Amino acid sequence: KKRQEEARLLEGLSPAEPGHPGSTDTAGEPDWVTAFVQRKEERDKVDRLKEEQIRRKKREDRLEKIRNNVQLKYAAKRKRSEEEETKRLLQLSKEALSQGAGDDVLDQLDHNEEELILAEYESDEEKKVVSGLEEDDDDLEEEHVTKIYYCSRTHSQLSQFVREVQKSPFGKDTRLVSLGSRQNLCVNEEVRRLGALQLINDRCMEMQKNKHEKKSDEENEGKKRRVSRAVCPFYSYEQMQFLRDEVLVEVKDIEQLVSLGRETKACPYYGSRYAIPAAQLVVLPYQMLLHEPTRSAAGIKLKDQVVIIDEAHNLIDTITCIHSAEVSGSQLCCAHSQLSQYMERYRKRLKAKNLMYIKQILYLLERFVAMLGGNVNQNPGCQTVSQTGTVLKSINDFLFQSQIDNINLFKLFGFVERYGGPATAVKNNKENQKMAGLQNFLLTLQQGSDKEGTPQSPPVEAENDQLRAASPLMQIEGFLSALTNANQDGRVILNRQGTVGQSSLKFLLLVHFAKVVEECRAVIIAGGTMQPVADFREQLLSCAGVDPARVLEFSCGHVIPPENILPIILCNGPSNQQLEFTYQTRDLPQMMDETGRILCNLCNVIPGGVVCFFPSYEYEKQVYAHWEKTGLLTRLATKKKIFQEPKKANQVEQVLVEYAKCIKRCSQAGGQMTGALLLSVVGGKMSEGINFSDDLGRCVIMVGMPYPNIKSPELQEKMAWLDKTMPRAAGQAPSRVLIENLCMKAVNQSIGRAIRHQKDFASILLLDHRYARPAIFNKLPQWIRERTQVKPAFGSAFAELRK
Ligand code: SF4
Repeated sequence: KKRQEEARLLEGLSPAEPGHPGSTDTAGEPDWVTAFVQRKEERDKVDRLKEEQIRRKKREDRLEKIRNNVQLKYAAKRKRSEEEETKRLLQLSKEALSQGAGDDVLDQLDHNEEELILAEYESDEEKKVVSGLEEDDDDLEEEHVTKIYYCSRTHSQLSQFVREVQKSPFGKDTRLVSLGSRQNLCVNEEVRRLGALQLINDRCMEMQKNKHEKKSDEENEGKKRRVSRAVCPFYSYEQMQFLRDEVLVEVKDIEQLVSLGRETKACPYYGSRYAIPAAQLVVLPYQMLLHEPTRSAAGIKLKDQVVIIDEAHNLIDTITCIHSAEVSGSQLCCAHSQLSQYMERYRKRLKAKNLMYIKQILYLLERFVAMLGGNVNQNPGCQTVSQTGTVLKSINDFLFQSQIDNINLFKLFGFVERYGGPATAVKNNKENQKMAGLQNFLLTLQQGSDKEGTPQSPPVEAENDQLRAASPLMQIEGFLSALTNANQDGRVILNRQGTVGQSSLKFLLLVHFAKVVEECRAVIIAGGTMQPVADFREQLLSCAGVDPARVLEFSCGHVIPPENILPIILCNGPSNQQLEFTYQTRDLPQMMDETGRILCNLCNVIPGGVVCFFPSYEYEKQVYAHWEKTGLLTRLATKKKIFQEPKKANQVEQVLVEYAKCIKRCSQAGGQMTGALLLSVVGGKMSEGINFSDDLGRCVIMVGMPYPNIKSPELQEKMAWLDKTMPRAAGQAPSRVLIENLCMKAVNQSIGRAIRHQKDFASILLLDHRYARPAIFNKLPQWIRERTQVKPAFGSAFAELRK
């Protein structure tokens, strides 16, 4: 391609064009002129090609340098710039302090409070006018080479992928970096021990801030020294640069990254982020890629890159969930109280513009609480809400009714984002310095009120630790940002419950994928159980403005031979009871008895593990209680040890270990007990990301159809939105299709757990005659659908299973 390009370039330079001095009437020119012109052109061509070669070589050298640990200059440059910025800020605040000295008693601030005053905030628009600073940043940035971002849902799926890359022929030469949260990557034991992600994030940020302060203290020699505060020893540029280069030289998964971090005394969380520009393959959880602020904080740039989203069956739900933001009444009141205190204390010292923004936020908070039926000046825990219930509003309606439609939310959000949120960005160190003021003050207030029960703030019911640890403005930051979406893309849910404190405002974003699709060169949405794919096409891609002609669909069969899987749709039970688990019929005792009989029969003939999925926790509980009463559990227990899916995520591991141990024991010992039966829930902790390979799952049973709860206001709104914006497909309303798709996606996900490798085998039993309806049947993955048998009677189904 390059050679062709060069040839074309040479052709383009040949003196054949009309009007070119060398081409006109060459016959009339003396030879030496023609020869001179030709030579000059040749020289130019050679020069150009040489330049190009040099550029190419430089690029390759730069990549080679990274391999050989020579790229420290970037680190040095970055570090220098940050130090300069810190100095500049300190100088600024010193000047401000000396100017204001003696004006007023209130102005006599404690030296320690210097940091609490906000640097003047300028919204982006205003900044454009002044500008100038941003270019410096660009200068420091390393070039992002073309790369693939590979995302999956869980940490273990990502590790599995990295191990496959290591084994592959590309393992040696690929520059791969694994990204993760601080919870996964932090190597500071003291911080790690905090456990909760929010606490780890807060502590880490706090320590980085301390580091900058410590530096400035050292510079201020001779002045009063402040109490030294903890800094993270792993947050060192040199060490992190070393780690970064090590990461780029050899493929490592998260565990290996953590061990390397411990060994080299460098933070893998930041070190890995520094490796992004030069990496060819970046492996990360998909929440990190789909959430724009997280993405930019991590330094991920999607422009012209390739994104692969694996295990994408829940992508739409995840996107909806990531882009939803909820604030409770108590959070709103708490933010209001603390911000008022800040304003009162520093009113005279705050820049006029900042004061205006703070007043606007206070007004906003007041109106939000009023929308929940409360008053910011009273204890939210004691104010009862008169009209309870859930109301849905469009963004514009919400802004209008809360009388804030005249406030520029974009500017305000920018302000809150800068000063209220956590300082997470690698490249945002300049900002971190400036925004620390308000955050610090709010946190001081929080800690103060935690310790002493400061009377100024209305007593707010004890929230969990996670909420207390974060700045209150951070809580409303997400909500404000959500309100800046286009009217048709989102809804606000007013959830009025009991007291104002318990009530909440929730933003729900209906679609949000456009940006990723817009920026990337290619997006691959992949998964083992992607059926039905229509949702992805319509809700993700066409909504994002992707031309249908650009969407390619590819599906391939399963690696297992056809005889390794036996999917059966069972329409009637052993006593000929029709199997239809609707909300009306599923609670009938005869339905629960019939399900029990089926299970008993199956457990008699199926070896190893049987996993039975119920549509919800409530139904599983109800059936379990019924079976206990009728004695069926005792009968089942003679063949299989019974396990139930725990409701708490931290118990899942233990139950699974016990379940696996029991199956192994039974297969080795022989005897009457042949394995275990796991009663699980669709969409629960065991329907995803957990493998029931081999003996762990020789039969998967799906009791009824797990339709989502259509009474949920969120789903209703989504259905109404789809009906309004999407055409009917094959005579069916889009909302109906959505419900069926959600149900079948959950089914496919659950039943896919049993077949995990080429030699695996299992039977799949779908208990409900409605699975045989064409619209539903066609939503089974092709590799299952092709082999599915519809059995009206239990006898013939049982005979097949026995075989
Ligand atoms: S800098 Fe890294 S190692 Fe230190 S606390 Fe933060 S995440 Fe942990």
